[in-house]
Amino acid sequence: MECNDPKCPIHGNLKTHGSELEGVVVSDRAAKTVIVERPYTTFLGKYERSLRKNSRIAAYNPQCIGAKTGDRVIIAGTRKLSKTKSFVVTKILERADKE
Ligand SMILES: [Zn+2]
Repeated sequence: MECNDPKCPIHGNLKTHGSELEGVVVSDRAAKTVIVERPYTTFLGKYERSLRKNSRIAAYNPQCIGAKTGDRVIIAGTRKLSKTKSFVVTKILERADKE
């Protein structure tokens, strides 16, 4: 697929750095942005229980990747792209709709 997106980490000039994270896309409604959710566990000392929480990260979705809701993706840190975005989707590990 042709890609002329300057903010694409593979074909454009967007550099990624820092850690890569794995998560699941929970929203693709915004243009070129996906919301990626990552479950994590935290320990609550007062009740001596661990509990599961989710962290939501807004990530840039380049046109050649085109992540959709339900996809399992890798996101990488990059420069701040907007008020809430400083991550970019670099890889799709598993598509939600397997054909
Ligand atoms: Zn691209």
